Amino acid sequence: MDLTTIAIIIFFIMAVGLVSIWQHRLERERDAEAEAKLEEQLKEGKELGTDKPVTQSAHIHADKCIGCGSCVLACHQGDVLAVVSGLARVVHASHCIGCGNCERACPVCAIEVGLGDVSKRPDIPILSPTLESSVPGLYIAGELGGIGLVRNAIEQGKTAANDIARRLKQEPKPKLPGVHDILVVGVGPAGLSALFRAVELGLDYAAVSIDDVGGTVYKYPRRKLTLVQAAEMPLHGRIKEGEYFKEDLLKMWSDTVCRHGIKVQINAAVEMIAPVDGVLETRTSAGVFKSRFVVLALGRRGVPRKLGVPGEEAEHVLYELADAAALKGQRALVIGGGNSAVEAALGLAGQPENYVVLSHRKSDFSRLTGRNKERLDKAVAEGKIHLIMSSQVKHIQPKKVVLHSCEPVGKEVANLDNDWVFVCAGGDPPFPLLQKIGVKFGKAPGTEEPGAREAGTSEGKAPGRKEKE
Ligand SMILES: Cc1cc2nc3c(=O)[nH]c(=O)nc-3n(C[C@H](O)[C@H](O)[C@H](O)COP(=O)(O)OP(=O)(O)OC[C@H]3O[C@@H](n4cnc5c(N)ncnc54)[C@H](O)[C@@H]3O)c2cc1C
Ligand code: SF4
Ligand code: SF4
Repeated sequence: MDLTTIAIIIFFIMAVGLVSIWQHRLERERDAEAEAKLEEQLKEGKELGTDKPVTQSAHIHADKCIGCGSCVLACHQGDVLAVVSGLARVVHASHCIGCGNCERACPVCAIEVGLGDVSKRPDIPILSPTLESSVPGLYIAGELGGIGLVRNAIEQGKTAANDIARRLKQEPKPKLPGVHDILVVGVGPAGLSALFRAVELGLDYAAVSIDDVGGTVYKYPRRKLTLVQAAEMPLHGRIKEGEYFKEDLLKMWSDTVCRHGIKVQINAAVEMIAPVDGVLETRTSAGVFKSRFVVLALGRRGVPRKLGVPGEEAEHVLYELADAAALKGQRALVIGGGNSAVEAALGLAGQPENYVVLSHRKSDFSRLTGRNKERLDKAVAEGKIHLIMSSQVKHIQPKKVVLHSCEPVGKEVANLDNDWVFVCAGGDPPFPLLQKIGVKFGKAPGTEEPGAREAGTSEGKAPGRKEKE
């Protein structure tokens, strides 16, 4: 071999070595960048409270994960999962709806969807296998018990109603005037299923709810596709597995309500439930209901916080924006400083000829995700959203709304022509109410260790999901 050839070979080996060192360094830099971004996201999740799951959610077994990213691709919720430095991580657990897509996509069973260790969850009520809580006669169905998804809610509503019917038969009592067999509170999929089953079984029922039929589904954005696993809805029949527009699900349920002349008292918020003279007395904002059994199907999203100002009860004051596209050429005031307020304002600002004002009590937006902050800044700079910081509503009139300053307090800062007011000031979660009623939790302060927890599940796993073989 001549010298030139040797030199070429040495040069080639050195070049390959240098390229691989350079590639390695690039990879390390990329990993460090991703790691820093993840840390930021995790910090943001903690600050926003989105790091805590609402229902069953994804849990990763770090020892099995090979970092392939299939779970991230399978998740339709956007920002729940991320893969960093070759490992899947849960970033915004509260955005997880527990659908199980990630679990099914994982090639090595490294991700599991469930409630996790319920003894560490102060938001999971202790329930019997038939969903009775620690308060005798009070059943908890659906997401309030910790298990999300429409199909699970339907199954649990039925389970509760069936058990109540069984007990009414096995523990008969003389019928007292004004005392129903069953009171269903909440008419999302769980409450509706319990209610329809009670009607099917001929029970004497009453039903109350804050909102109209549909619960959380009613509040989804317009035309949202909802993936529903196969379920048997009482009075309606089989709901086939598939994707449904929210409007189709709502129509299915409202048609059943109409066809059977079922009565639901809406605008009724439950305030207290207590045993009185051998029956359960439920106090609501629309009066008191007495019943032998109660099915609480309140979901987990809580009651929207009110402003407590004159004019708030008007019909043009709403607590969420379901369909921005329906509002064009309108003057809208959005109140709030969180992500839901900003997303509502952005949605409205995206429609032609809307005039959108966003009022926030504070002088900055400390609770926004980075992306929402960026989008808000852009919309403000383009004149699509008008911000009035450190302000609060003083009163609402049919076509006007008056804002006062928070700092200094009470100075009028705006008198706006207005068609719609959207109050996005967050919600009061249902757990303090449950504690007041006496319901015991997985790890409520001052309660004993949880017993055999079951909400249609054994170890906090969602019922009805296929186990891995
Ligand atoms: C954005 C989003 C997307 C989702 N997508 C899917 C999906 O594709 N597929 C799927 O299966 N699941 C999905 N889910 C989850 C699903 O919507 C819920 O698991 C399901 O609605 C829970 O039903 P529920 O009856 O337990 O509670 P909810 O549907 O939340 O109903 C609660 C009911 O209680 C009433 N209520 C609340 N508080 C009170 C009170 N104090 N007094 C009186 N009434 C009260 C409410 O008005 C409502 O009628 C999604 C959830 C969200 C937020
Ligand atoms: S369970 Fe569903 S929503 Fe939750 S992380 Fe997995 S795919 Fe996403
Ligand atoms: S699909 Fe499984 S192995 Fe792949 S990144 Fe997700 S958890 Fe890890």
